[in-house]
Amino acid sequence: MQKRTKIVATLGPASDDKKTLSGMIKAGLDVARLNFSHGNAEDHRRRYAVLREAADACGKEIAVMGDLQGPKIRIKRFENGSVVLADGDSFFLDSAIGLEEGNQQGVGVALDSIHEDVGPGDTLLLNDGLITLEVERVAGTRIHTTVVAGGILSDHKGLNLKGGGLSAAALTDVDRENIRLAAELDMDFLAVSFVRSGEDIEEARRLFSEAGGNGLIVAKIERAEAVENIDSIIDAADVVMVARGDLGVEMGYAQLTGIQKSLIQQTRAKNKIVITATQMMESMILNPIPTRAEVSDVANAVIDGTDAVMLSGETAVGKYPIEVINAMSDVCVGAEQFPHPAGRMSHRMGDQFELVDEAIAMAVMYTANHMSVKAIIALTESGSTSRWMSRVRSDIPIYAMTPYAATRRRVALYRGVYPVSFEIKKTERAQLYAEIFKTMLSKKLVEVGDLVIFTKGDLEGVSGSTNAMKILKVTAAE
Ligand code: PEP
Repeated sequence: MQKRTKIVATLGPASDDKKTLSGMIKAGLDVARLNFSHGNAEDHRRRYAVLREAADACGKEIAVMGDLQGPKIRIKRFENGSVVLADGDSFFLDSAIGLEEGNQQGVGVALDSIHEDVGPGDTLLLNDGLITLEVERVAGTRIHTTVVAGGILSDHKGLNLKGGGLSAAALTDVDRENIRLAAELDMDFLAVSFVRSGEDIEEARRLFSEAGGNGLIVAKIERAEAVENIDSIIDAADVVMVARGDLGVEMGYAQLTGIQKSLIQQTRAKNKIVITATQMMESMILNPIPTRAEVSDVANAVIDGTDAVMLSGETAVGKYPIEVINAMSDVCVGAEQFPHPAGRMSHRMGDQFELVDEAIAMAVMYTANHMSVKAIIALTESGSTSRWMSRVRSDIPIYAMTPYAATRRRVALYRGVYPVSFEIKKTERAQLYAEIFKTMLSKKLVEVGDLVIFTKGDLEGVSGSTNAMKILKVTAAE
């Protein structure tokens, strides 16, 4: 069985040699994520180059995603590196405190306006929610709190306001530099962290395009404001990432699963792509097999219709970067056998289509799901036809045939879509079909006698929006 759900894995010290990367690619890696929160530009350039070598050696199209750090709000440093906070202690946060002046009484915060965004009764969460502080009062820049859940608090730990509302802008100066790096490396996806609205996405897209970037924009949903403004964000973005790390802290764990399910559903309904991320197989940072709960978490995201599942620390710093992708691939293939309770063809059934190519894509999927068809073949330029097709639940593979490498890498993220390199040399119909069958037969993707559905645009001048579908029986090359 071919895996339909795609795997995004973060590169890091555990996975930046060619042998490990080749193992990860063979195990089922589809998109490599370079996390700009760690490492410098040289690390990213080196990892990018090794990944490209490994992908070429394996003969597989692997996309690259640059993930911006964003305005993650952090405390400053302590005189001695850390303090231990006990429940009931008084502790203050103050943006006016110097970089290394934190102590048992309080610590600096790297967000000048934070005192304007919080008030008595608010809950502040530090270190991914491990430490909880309740705000008592705000005096000038100083936020006085009581420790509700204590623990060790060390330099630079992250800070969230439960329910959201910290007003940092989405793109920092460091992000702007990394956008230029992502454009220089021709990255296929640019992930924008801590977005609040569709405008944040539009700004990132503008900066990326001005820097010469051509990739798609990923909106990371990790703030309460993003959940509130989800419609405008999905409309502005190409891809949505359910970034469960920060989202779980801001929204509270009890809300997280419901939000994840609705984000997957809302994103697919708007014909966009969705990634489910963070702690999916966290225990495999140290262990060679996942826990049953992790298996179930990945499988549920797959059954709910996620396009991709993502690994972070598991492949960046974990002991088992290849094994975790193998395990994840197996779970994806297993879960894909189980039909979604809503059935196959519920997508946009009551809607009017405005675009001819989307209408063709929907007609193809309806036909394919009601006939014994072995493959769907879309001759595509940008990959849009295959994206529309992949929004409809089906177990029939969709082959996106295109001469453009950037399109082939982009569709590597779309569920059930497989890129195939194909130069359109013949525009005469019978010759074109013969060329397509030859390519598909040589890759063993179809057999003589298989029924396939094929879509294309008008081929005069070779390009054109998809406006035709054809049901064909595969014939042998003469
Ligand atoms: C997350 O918070 O879930 C996430 C994916 O972001 P990062 O790994 O950049 O913290």
